[in-house]
Amino acid sequence: MDFLTKVWAKEATTTTEKPPIEAPTPAEAKKESPTEGQEKNIPPKETKDWGYDLYPERRGESFKPKWTRVLFGMEGQENIDRFKCEQNVYWCVKNGPLVKLMMGALKSSGCPIDLRRHISCEVCDPSVTGGYDPTLNQIVVCQNMAKNKSMVHGVLTHEMIHMFDYCNNELDFRNVDHLACTEIRAANLAHCSFLSAMFQGDASPFNIKEAHQNCVKSKALASVLAVRNITKEDAIAAVERVFPKCYADLEPIGRRIRRNSTDQQKAYMEAPMYGYDVY
Ligand SMILES: [Zn+2]
Repeated sequence: MDFLTKVWAKEATTTTEKPPIEAPTPAEAKKESPTEGQEKNIPPKETKDWGYDLYPERRGESFKPKWTRVLFGMEGQENIDRFKCEQNVYWCVKNGPLVKLMMGALKSSGCPIDLRRHISCEVCDPSVTGGYDPTLNQIVVCQNMAKNKSMVHGVLTHEMIHMFDYCNNELDFRNVDHLACTEIRAANLAHCSFLSAMFQGDASPFNIKEAHQNCVKSKALASVLAVRNITKEDAIAAVERVFPKCYADLEPIGRRIRRNSTDQQKAYMEAPMYGYDVY
């Protein structure tokens, strides 16, 4: 309730802003799926390895401003950030083609998104811009890091792919192959599609020529390593194991989006042909 009324009240003032949807999301979700560690029998030490420390508000701790911020009259910044974040989320839900497509695909899959229930703007660790919390089936948008519409659009699309996989593919985030697969799909359909082909060079541990595949593997590897305390070799092995199958799976977007193209709109317009109930 609170979310929508606030956004509605402000909507009229935001309609003149330009929609920078296709810009890259460079810092998007280096670390994901924060709170699987909520299982009762997992000791506190291990919960850190599952990403708890990245999302302090997930642990039930509300963000506490530092005394310096209070001293300089900046203690209200968190509320301002949250308000702006919620506005950006609302804008993306109304105007972002891929977010709208994902919302429709989730709805058609029996997992409709209720903004107030499933999307949460929070203060996160500065190393992440978003996350998906499978225990609560919630997307976290990091209000302190994803500060404009294009970043929020990237976070929402990426995390909605995890949500889609969790809804449709019996995803078990504890299984490293499952995790690698959904990270490959999210990088493939969202992150790497927004970036120009040459963005990553020789730093990648994968020796392949195709820049897009290289991007997807590197991004998926980084995401897996961020939330699992396993060796790089094991993570690379998992990514390689599932890559052919998961890279080829373009559901529900149906295509790899090319930068500076009309692909996002095309994907959105074609969604009903695949049985997705887009808005
Ligand atoms: Zn992810």
